[in-house]
Amino acid sequence: MQLHRFAVLATLFFACPLSAEETSETAPTLCRGHYHSESDAVAQLKRMAATYSNLAQWQDRATAIRKQILTGAKLMPLPERTPLKAIIRKKREYEGYSVESAAFEARPGFYVYGNLYRPMGKRGPFPAILCPHGHATGPAGGRLRPDQQHRCATLARMGAVVFSYDMIGFGESLHHGWNHQHKQALTLQTWDSIRAIDFVQSLDDVDGSRIGVTGCSGGGTQTFLLTAVDDRVTASAPVVMVSAHFFGGCHCESGMPIHKTAQLETNNAEIAALAAPRPLLLVSVGGDWTKNTPVVEYPYIRNIYGMYGKADQVENVHYPGRKHGYQFLKRQAMYPFMVKHLKLDPSGVFDENTEVYDETATQIESPEQMYVFDQSHPYPSSALKPGTQIAL
Ligand SMILES: [Zn+2]
Repeated sequence: MQLHRFAVLATLFFACPLSAEETSETAPTLCRGHYHSESDAVAQLKRMAATYSNLAQWQDRATAIRKQILTGAKLMPLPERTPLKAIIRKKREYEGYSVESAAFEARPGFYVYGNLYRPMGKRGPFPAILCPHGHATGPAGGRLRPDQQHRCATLARMGAVVFSYDMIGFGESLHHGWNHQHKQALTLQTWDSIRAIDFVQSLDDVDGSRIGVTGCSGGGTQTFLLTAVDDRVTASAPVVMVSAHFFGGCHCESGMPIHKTAQLETNNAEIAALAAPRPLLLVSVGGDWTKNTPVVEYPYIRNIYGMYGKADQVENVHYPGRKHGYQFLKRQAMYPFMVKHLKLDPSGVFDENTEVYDETATQIESPEQMYVFDQSHPYPSSALKPGTQIAL
């Protein structure tokens, strides 16, 4: 996949017009894309590590980073939790799992569109796993992609209730006219993920104390941002995204000032460390900005877990010869992590002879099957018009 590059302009960007109190020295700085070099990233990690030397100091720093993310994302304080008015329909039953089309209102009239994958033939209550997606486009992009369907179906077959949901301007959101260039994309997608936890916790068959999240690329960004700001996440697996030198190439990842203010500088490696001491899996590859993970990001994060006495709760699986994406091999790295930490049942899916989690039972669906709204289920007239600025 082509890398996004915004490095040239990165140091010149500021988040918003300066208020009366702000000067060019105190205004937050946007760290977009390749904002700094790999060696700059290593130096920055050293500066950041020098700000704490024990758990209490780290926890103070973690609180400040969490506050900076929410403030930068314009989610401080968090918006009111308005009624979700969840819609769950069109149940399709397959081998060991079912799929339904599901939507809820993250804000009144603003829909999050998704699919709910549920186990069949197992007894609940089940853990829930959120599956955000990355920026792969096309007529069946985002949550509609076969890769994403394999991930969700296989986790459901092992006993998880899985919610897979659109970024703004992808999948069904795109189908209804929304554009990913929406100025509030980072704000809305982070809020959508918080509300997605509310949604799965509202389901009768979900054990709300076991919540996983995993996504790749832009979905990896959503994964570590949600984990950082919401302590209901109990197991987190950001895939090919956690990097100290790359901040995410899209405005939905780095278009708001969550990384650097006059008071505090951070990067995505440290944001991922806010998962501590909860189980965290970093999947990285040689072919993108996660190429240094085993020697740069992972040791930094592991040191923080070590302060909790939980160094064994963070793992890194690295594929030096592989490229960006959440293909079969990367999924094979994630499945045992979720099995272990969310207590899934891999029987009938994991083959002990081949040591492979079998995905051949996945029934790949068409976009029309996956949509929540169609000719039989018309789009609500109360839905906000595409592009609307959402009141928070
Ligand atoms: Zn984006």
